[in-house]
Amino acid sequence: MPEFSHDGLDTAGVARVRHLLTQLRSVPALAPRYAGIAEPSTLDDLAALPTMLKDDLQAALSHLQPRAAGATTWVFQSGGSTGAPQVGYAPTGLYMREVYEQWRPIGPQDVFVNGWSAGKMWGAHFLVNAYTDHVHCTAMNLGAMTRDEYDPWLAFFAARKVTAFGGTPSVLRLIFGHARDAGVKLPDLRAVLFLGEAWSDQLDEDLAAVAPNARRWGMFGSTETWVVATNTPDCPADTWHPLPSQLVCAADDEMLDFTTLDPHGLNPVLRYRTGDAGRFVTCPCGRPGRAFQVLGRRDGLIKFRGHLVNVDDLVRDVGTLPGVARAQLVVKEFDDRGSVLEVLVLPTGAADTGLADAVHRHLLGSAFGPSIVFQRNADALEVSVVPALIGNERTGKVPNLVVRRPR
Ligand SMILES: [Zn+2]
Repeated sequence: MPEFSHDGLDTAGVARVRHLLTQLRSVPALAPRYAGIAEPSTLDDLAALPTMLKDDLQAALSHLQPRAAGATTWVFQSGGSTGAPQVGYAPTGLYMREVYEQWRPIGPQDVFVNGWSAGKMWGAHFLVNAYTDHVHCTAMNLGAMTRDEYDPWLAFFAARKVTAFGGTPSVLRLIFGHARDAGVKLPDLRAVLFLGEAWSDQLDEDLAAVAPNARRWGMFGSTETWVVATNTPDCPADTWHPLPSQLVCAADDEMLDFTTLDPHGLNPVLRYRTGDAGRFVTCPCGRPGRAFQVLGRRDGLIKFRGHLVNVDDLVRDVGTLPGVARAQLVVKEFDDRGSVLEVLVLPTGAADTGLADAVHRHLLGSAFGPSIVFQRNADALEVSVVPALIGNERTGKVPNLVVRRPR
């Protein structure tokens, strides 16, 4: 039986779940799936509901076109690589009051730098600004840095006695790895906030050298669910405590799904699967309530430098370009310079000398997903025209994605 983070549904929870079901039944593409289901009243009823995947939620959003009552309706997007973007809606405040009530990595005395990249409708930077509005700290909107900007900004952080810094772990690794190599010390830094990717053990080593007083604080979520859970330095980095308004479910196949009980939630998230696997655990921090451990992704979606990439969509898209027989993605994880996406291209005939450049231009020019990463970090993308793709010698299968950790 699926397990839930909560012991049961209260009256408001039942009303919310029924409202979500009514909304989903009004979507023509989803109506047949939800027809004939009795009004849910308990977690057992919820366990019997079908789960939603990204395409279901996108179909629902495109039909429902949510609008916030008495507030601005913000639209953000993530993932999709060169395919259709996944959008998510949120009202003014981006649901951060509840996060603030549950999670206090920083306080009014802190000097906080927001290092999540801003723009292209990615939500993290703006969500964290909405959080800091509750904290009443001193906040600096840095956004993304290029490599040649690290030294002057690190000097600025030291001079301004920055006490807290947040970003995607890939970005944090680049910054703090550089600081470590350059001998920079940030003795005032005491909190490092992360969101968008799993924490990296390498970061612990960098921080020990650069900012020995700094401890990590995480938020877990997605553009569709918004922040689902948080953790503290006393929790393992992959273990999370759900917010009261987020009902987390671990199904028998260890896939997680999420239901937003917040009555102001704009996305109709009812047993929505993000692709993350996980299970319920007892967190050693001792905080009451159920915690869940995230075991990684198990579907065609991968996270590349904080951006969701649909592997199959991207391979299919490159495969339609003139001169391309088939493409394959190779993600190379370098401890010192972050992840690199190599796109292997098998040409249809004799390799045209311009083919690699044409594929490279196509990927950089696409409007969605990791193109923003490639525009800022040219070395995060490589395109190679090859005589053969990487296959499994035993089965002959050629996977769309190969992950490598070069030594
Ligand atoms: Zn904990």
